[in-house]
Amino acid sequence: MLAISSELPIVDCQLIRFGVISEEQARTRILEKVSPLDERAVPLAGALDCFAAQDYFARLPLPAFDNSAMDGYAVVANFCKKGGRLRVIGEQPAGPDRKLRVSDGEAVRIFTGATLPQGADAIVMQEDVTRDGTDISLNVDVEAGDFIRRRGCDLAEGQMILAKGERIRAATVALLASQGFADVIVGGKATAAVISTGNELVKPGDELQAGQIYDSNSELLSALLQRCGVSATAVEHCRDDRQSLGDAIKRGMKNHVLIISGGVSVGEHDLVKEALRELGAKIEIWRVAVKPGKPFLFGTVPNKSSDSAGETPAGLTGSPRRIRPEADTMPMPHKCFVFGLPGNPVSVFVTFLQFVRPAILRMMGATNLDLPQVPAKLTVGLTNDGDRPHYIRGRLEHEKFTPIGRQESHALFGLSQANALLRVGVGQSLKADEIVDVQICD
Ligand code: AMP
Ligand code: MG
Repeated sequence: MLAISSELPIVDCQLIRFGVISEEQARTRILEKVSPLDERAVPLAGALDCFAAQDYFARLPLPAFDNSAMDGYAVVANFCKKGGRLRVIGEQPAGPDRKLRVSDGEAVRIFTGATLPQGADAIVMQEDVTRDGTDISLNVDVEAGDFIRRRGCDLAEGQMILAKGERIRAATVALLASQGFADVIVGGKATAAVISTGNELVKPGDELQAGQIYDSNSELLSALLQRCGVSATAVEHCRDDRQSLGDAIKRGMKNHVLIISGGVSVGEHDLVKEALRELGAKIEIWRVAVKPGKPFLFGTVPNKSSDSAGETPAGLTGSPRRIRPEADTMPMPHKCFVFGLPGNPVSVFVTFLQFVRPAILRMMGATNLDLPQVPAKLTVGLTNDGDRPHYIRGRLEHEKFTPIGRQESHALFGLSQANALLRVGVGQSLKADEIVDVQICD
């Protein structure tokens, strides 16, 4: 059995106004605060990874008309036998319907996607005939229906093609295009900024001095945001001093979401809480019973300077349906949702996926806020004898889950090898070969 040791809780009780809350409570509180942003119309080219703001139904059946699945010859099957000869009376390429008609003893040269000529009920592949001037002889028997794509066999007119809240994927964009939609109404565009705090941090590419480390959280958070369909408007590094932090927060809070990494714990250099309070932030959550990630912080900070003419009412529930045309510059939101993530990279990863991702997806109009979850056979026994649920990083392969790397919050290499998370509850003991549900986090 691989026992998961608990981290020592480092808590100065004098400083703490907030109790540690459960993950469920944290998630509920966060999701109560955020609500979907205004819908907008976007051209299909910009719709990938957005969420549909309404149900969509097929305007056309697919295929829209009976057509050929092959390059070959359209024939009347009943009159076709191996060795038979047919006269080629015309040609129907893909494109406008030439309204040809085929009868007994005849064939129409046809190409993939071309309208089926009247009277034809089968296609003979060109590889299965021998052409001889205006005639062909058949090298195969033919059955009615061969290589014909019937109107509506894939999709019926009126059938739902996209549900409200569903993510628009590459194939969804293609399906909408096939229906003639040039635009799609999607959920609001969440804007996000990232601040990485820490005097020890150096930008990748610059030279390291002793005791310094490269800032990896900025890249991690940008990438995690991208996976949610959001590209960060700003990613900045900030030293651990109140002035710099306050200034960086002021810049970042013009977004719907501000994610700050590091500086949220209880050390003297953890200044995020104070800096936020000085800017009028309401801290809703500080410290969640989760491993890694306990010092997680969530709050809201008002944007006093926002231009009331075109504000996006982030966080307002029950507002009437408004659809914005897609604009290059988004108006500043009334308030910004701030997430303070503990600086260790695995803590950033886990708390982003468990708390930030659902909030962003909700703002963007998604229905399903959960990571995809699948059953898997655990390859080793695991016991959580700590005081917080533990997200074990592991590899999901061939429906088996194996913990990978050091299960510590600084262990970035192990994290980089993982593609799934297993939540082990407090006191939970899981046996090898047990079937567990794992979250896919790749
Ligand atoms: P903190 O939450 O600021 O106390 O940081 C906890 C740990 O995470 C420390 O070891 C930091 O050096 C490390 N850390 C903080 N920010 C980053 C970052 N942007 N990239 C990599 N490691 C970081
Ligand atoms: Mg720090």
